[in-house]
Amino acid sequence: MKKISKKLLMFSLAGAFVVGGSILTSPAVHAVGNGPNYNGNETVNTSILTTYDEMVDYLKKQDSKQSQMELEVIGQSMKGRDLYLVKYISNPENPTILFLTQQHGNEQLTTEGTLEFIKHLGTGKTKGVLDNVNVLIVPMLNPDGAMGDVDFDLDDYIASGDRHLTRYNAAGEDLNRDHVNKVFPETQALHNNVLSAYDIDYMIDLHHQGANSERDGELVSGSILYPTTENADPEVVHKSKQLGAVVFDKIDSTGWGHLGKYNGGSAETISRNGISVEYGISTLLFEMRGMSDHSNESAILGQKSNGYLIKQTVNTLDAAVRAISDGSINNKDVSFWDTLPTQSTRTTE
Ligand SMILES: [Zn+2]
Repeated sequence: MKKISKKLLMFSLAGAFVVGGSILTSPAVHAVGNGPNYNGNETVNTSILTTYDEMVDYLKKQDSKQSQMELEVIGQSMKGRDLYLVKYISNPENPTILFLTQQHGNEQLTTEGTLEFIKHLGTGKTKGVLDNVNVLIVPMLNPDGAMGDVDFDLDDYIASGDRHLTRYNAAGEDLNRDHVNKVFPETQALHNNVLSAYDIDYMIDLHHQGANSERDGELVSGSILYPTTENADPEVVHKSKQLGAVVFDKIDSTGWGHLGKYNGGSAETISRNGISVEYGISTLLFEMRGMSDHSNESAILGQKSNGYLIKQTVNTLDAAVRAISDGSINNKDVSFWDTLPTQSTRTTE
């Protein structure tokens, strides 16, 4: 437990150093989007990432320290790992937001950031904020993929360290294509014991994309998108776009954050679409830059960017919670979506 705190601190410090260094040496190029690629040269070691067991210890410790927090098991993964829901419910009548991480097991920094945000919620800085918003968090929905405990081989995965991390669940299937049929226990746990069990208004689904996407000629630190199925209620989509506006204004203005519009499909098997239609939840996909492990070099990001990407996650969750709590999200202008360019993929020679 102590170990994790140190680890998170290390990430934060790493981010701070990079920020400082960039400002001193290169004021024009300081977005995390222009941080190091992997390119076969950067260190990418999965041993520095929080393991599933460490995450469970951390959540239990936070639960014992935080009076407002509740920790619940919502089901088990294919390999029998308990899946967790973290709850802050001060008043059932409050608007409620759900944060979901790591449907894809190799997209871990969003979980690292979310764990830091959970600690942040217990510090008292957000005490008044939580009076007017309920927060639900499902961290690491795919722990089997995150731990590389799967029924297929990962020999061609690139990262070094004590484990490989993969997108897929233990059966080699993509959980974020299972939101209609709900075949897998991880998806069932989310739908039966979270989405159906609470009156949820907003959701941010946190992912990582490849490392080479750019907007306006600069590599992005991430990309965002609202539901794009024609079956989504226009009001639900509007509120999704407002949630996106909150996140965009917070992140893109930092100097180190640079966001594009994600180029996503309309299939309702994808949570962003399916959950908006089935439950009327306003969803936002946030794809952070670069994955923790992959068989394809262009998907992985050098770990020097970890501090930034964790901070990007914390800032995203914090901004969303505050905007819902004070109601400012309801006045958010969504016209930026009309001019935000869809990201493109940088081609390397
Ligand atoms: Zn993903």
